[in-house]
Amino acid sequence: MDNLIERAVEDLLNCKYAIALTGAGISTESGIPDFRGPDGVWTRDPEAEKRAYEAYQKFLDNPVQHWKDSMNTSGAFGNLSEIKPNRGHYALAEMEQKGILKWTITQNIDNLHERAGSKNVLNYHGNAFILRCIYCNTRYGREEYDLDKLYKEDKLPPLCSCGQPLKSDVVFFNEAIPEDVAGQSLEEAFRCDLMLICGTSATVYPFASLPVTARGRVITKEKEPGYSGVTIIEVNAEPTALTRQNISDYLIQGKTGEILPRILDGIRGRG
Ligand code: NAD
Repeated sequence: MDNLIERAVEDLLNCKYAIALTGAGISTESGIPDFRGPDGVWTRDPEAEKRAYEAYQKFLDNPVQHWKDSMNTSGAFGNLSEIKPNRGHYALAEMEQKGILKWTITQNIDNLHERAGSKNVLNYHGNAFILRCIYCNTRYGREEYDLDKLYKEDKLPPLCSCGQPLKSDVVFFNEAIPEDVAGQSLEEAFRCDLMLICGTSATVYPFASLPVTARGRVITKEKEPGYSGVTIIEVNAEPTALTRQNISDYLIQGKTGEILPRILDGIRGRG
């Protein structure tokens, strides 16, 4: 373990363009359960997974009913604004501030990277604090709408300036990833020379194709002098598909809230 942490420190200090990819695992230590880990929401309640697959069609069929239903449920994670970032989020934010991490691409919808201080965050599956128009792609802060008032006055759904019903920015199953985020994430996977993948089972596509894209890149030394390949590091509680298929170079097995701060300490120790 110590050797792998030291190896990650070296790799991060020597790379030119590192990005982080994160999943539900980085937020479990903040108290948000993941979906597929041993205590995951769907591991405990497989019916919840089924319901999640139906939500997008329900929104398309009847946005008013969708909004009424969602105002009456607390959601899978309860009140997200009461949850705080943990040491893993803060470690990534400091790596960005040091100029090492250029972007964090997260599957999480909990806004915890931003709250920990990361500025360059791509919310691949959206952000629970934002509303988005699926027709013109305009986004609004959730606080711009008094949803409780709209509900009480029977004026749901909230409307976009284009007149269409807004939905949560959170990407539902069977809904396409918003083009801007999908496009930029892919560009980053093509551009990076180090990918630090934290707390994801890497089973949800197309997100899981980002490491595969990075691994599959072939850049000749002639095209990019000094280029020596992409280093892919995983920090996860257990081996994943990326580990088993040798898409990652190495796995540092353990909790992101412990390992990422240790990597950061190693970086700080080197000035
Ligand atoms: P996942 O549940 O499929 O996998 C999480 C992985 O993280 C597992 O391999 C688990 O063993 C590991 N893990 C759990 N706690 C960890 C810790 N403290 N340190 C290191 N590893 C840990 O999650 P996923 O791959 O992100 O896919 C689930 C989907 O659900 C995503 O698309 C995401 O959008 C959504 N989701 C989001 C949140 C959130 O916003 N916090 C929470 C649950 C699910």
